[in-house]
Amino acid sequence: NPLQDRITDIGPRYFREFFPPVIEKNFGKWEYHEILEPGVLVHVAEGGDEVYTVRVGGCRLMSVEHLREICEIADKYCDGYLRFTTRNNIEFLVSDKSKVKPLIDDLKGRKFAAGSYKFPIGGTGSGITNIVHTQGWAHCHTPAIDASGVVKAVMDGLFEEFGSMNMPAPVRVSLACCLNMCGAVHCSDIAILGIHRKPPMIDGEWIDKLCELPLAIAACPTAAIKPAKSAGGLKSLEVNGERCMFCGNCYTMCAAMPLADEVGSGIAILVGGKLSNRISKPKFSKVVIPFIPNEPPRWGSTVAAVKNIVDVYAKDARKYERLGDWAERIGWERFFEKTQIPFTHHLIDDYRFAYTTWRQSTQFKF
Ligand code: SF4
Ligand code: SF4
Repeated sequence: NPLQDRITDIGPRYFREFFPPVIEKNFGKWEYHEILEPGVLVHVAEGGDEVYTVRVGGCRLMSVEHLREICEIADKYCDGYLRFTTRNNIEFLVSDKSKVKPLIDDLKGRKFAAGSYKFPIGGTGSGITNIVHTQGWAHCHTPAIDASGVVKAVMDGLFEEFGSMNMPAPVRVSLACCLNMCGAVHCSDIAILGIHRKPPMIDGEWIDKLCELPLAIAACPTAAIKPAKSAGGLKSLEVNGERCMFCGNCYTMCAAMPLADEVGSGIAILVGGKLSNRISKPKFSKVVIPFIPNEPPRWGSTVAAVKNIVDVYAKDARKYERLGDWAERIGWERFFEKTQIPFTHHLIDDYRFAYTTWRQSTQFKF
């Protein structure tokens, strides 16, 4: 019994308790799956059981009313079961084929007062699925940008691509609101990364009251922090701006060292990363736009930059070529020419030797 020795008073409950019966019955026995149309999949088990999945776009921050509506749909069609993907898509699973069309029709009929879909269907195959992302201004302490707000604006710009499969290959977009990268931005086709560009400010009045000063010093990976005295003669800290890489580790330890700044904090765009082994090995994303300012609430420049990269890639790449495969085939210099993104000395094309030089790859022809 896999549950026998499980400690249940910490962490979430064992995931298999929540499997729909057909998934539990066929665990490890699935033979193949197909995408029937954008957002609709069928998985077929060795014994012939079928599970149909209807995938709809969701978001990280949901109202109670929205969650209740999702549960109502799951109760009506899916015997009360549903699944969230790591990209915040909601998957309604049914094992009875006759329920699929009524479920799709019901989802398409649910709209907001302004007429937009509450449950847009899509996010499969060679399209653009939801953006995996982080906490942003709502929850975390070190963000340089918002997460859900940027994601909402960018996905509104990519809405057609979510509901279709017209890309050469899957395009995985991710967002992390600081360099800690909770959001897989290091290996995504397109990555939106929040960056700080200024060292932390020292709040001399509060630092000796709020912080364990040795802890803040020890937290700095570049040894940029040393003890000092504030103007009033209190114990304080001093940051060597030349050594600081704006990571925010010190702020994690000490709330009197904030580094978010209206001008200094913003967005970097990275492209070409992937986990897949297909066509070429997995690769890291590379910086192609070093800085875009924060532009809440709709982040117009960021949305335009992502749309531009997607549009040029969709027109120019061969079928099955991921964004990084395409850029490497045509050469990164062509990537910059075709997308009309300016090349600057901030751009690194290969991280392996990034400590000593900014340009190493043999494919790079600038
Ligand atoms: Fe917090 Fe950074 Fe993670 Fe965003 S990426 S949630 S700011 S640690
Ligand atoms: Fe050190 Fe990072 Fe703080 Fe800069 S932001 S002082 S590098 S811990």
